[in-house]
Amino acid sequence: APAAARPSSGAGGEPETEGPGRDTALLRHLLLKLRATGPVTVAEYMREALTNPGQGYYTRRGGIGESGDFITSPEITQVFGELIGIWFVSEWIAMGKPKAFQLVELGPGRGTLTGDMLRVFNQLASLLSKCDVSIHLVEVSPKLSKIQALQLTGGKVQSNPEDNSAYMKGVSKTGIPISWYRDIQDVPPGYSFYLAHEFFDALPIHKFQRTEKGWHEVLVDIDPEVPDQLRFVLSPSRTPATEIFIQPEETRDHVEVCPEAGVIIQRLASRIEEDGGAALVADYGHDGTKTDTFRGFRDHKLHDVLTAPGTADLTADVDFSYLRKMAQGRTATLGPIKQREFLKNMGIDVRLQVLLQNSHDTATHKQLLHGYDMLMNPKKMGDCFNFFALLPHHRLVHPDKKHKRESKSPLPPVAGFSELLMK
Ligand code: SAH
Repeated sequence: APAAARPSSGAGGEPETEGPGRDTALLRHLLLKLRATGPVTVAEYMREALTNPGQGYYTRRGGIGESGDFITSPEITQVFGELIGIWFVSEWIAMGKPKAFQLVELGPGRGTLTGDMLRVFNQLASLLSKCDVSIHLVEVSPKLSKIQALQLTGGKVQSNPEDNSAYMKGVSKTGIPISWYRDIQDVPPGYSFYLAHEFFDALPIHKFQRTEKGWHEVLVDIDPEVPDQLRFVLSPSRTPATEIFIQPEETRDHVEVCPEAGVIIQRLASRIEEDGGAALVADYGHDGTKTDTFRGFRDHKLHDVLTAPGTADLTADVDFSYLRKMAQGRTATLGPIKQREFLKNMGIDVRLQVLLQNSHDTATHKQLLHGYDMLMNPKKMGDCFNFFALLPHHRLVHPDKKHKRESKSPLPPVAGFSELLMK
């Protein structure tokens, strides 16, 4: 089976020492830069490797799916996107069915997840008929945005490279407007549901190491022993990032911090506080406990993070405790809870049974059961993936609270995070 759960490795997994594409254009660019100005932070290296406009992994390769470098839940089974679509509809109902909502997806990959959600919205057309729905995709990769456009609109899109906000616009096969942006800040304000699936793990991290002389930042430099090879070094003194990101009470010896994730969560939280809505974040991660999780994937195998940059996906576990902190109380937060618990609460078992009953060939049956196992099995994606949500505070205030504060009745249920009592 492909390395779907992306096992954690040391600083770089098994080094790939041979094979084509070791000496990449991006490596040559980085070597020039390092020779000229010295070592760079891991964050800068990761940003170049993933999203360099000419040579980054997502810009050029972006190999999501069975034939690519890594597989994601929406690529495994349609059930995943359907249940997430239902989550948003359920929140829309819980918040009093506002007249319009924007569905904003960060890093939509091949557009499969959006497509599955759009199918749910279409099936619930009678419920949503008076609601003005629009889709807003935040994607930096020109290659992946083309794949998304093809998947969602059949390729009927208008490109507006001059437009400072939406660089592409189209209409979904089900008649819903879709716009593409490079940055969340370009998405117009308004009541919005935000979705980030395997997005935050792709954002650049800083790495810090505790030594006898205090904290040092891990940097990337040229290996003086091996020509054209990169290696990790420690900053000779404390860097500005060390002062900002390491808490005095930190007990770990190695820490990864993703400031860009913090900035994006702050933006989402402010937008939800001002205009209403909710955000759902799903990713593999931890709650401020893990240390070295930086790793690479190519052809579904671990790939040394410093070898042939631009040819492999680089990723680090999401620190949900940091995301919670960066919401800064502007919204309430829920989770992280394990994927298998979230999907169970969302009714994945019932959905599976319906699909099994409706299909009559054994190949489809097998595929449905395989997909269920990949998503739910604690040894596969069931335990290491987590769901985390931002919700307006009022969404979690019990309606009884105004009257009797000592009320024992539970909080209003939020789908996925607690078992749904109402059918
Ligand atoms: N959500 C999809 C794809 C995950 S891969 C799935 O689950 O299948 C990460 C996605 O984020 C890709 O679409 C990638 O191009 C995009 N991405 C990575 N860095 C980004 C950034 N800084 N801004 C916007 N999109 C980014």
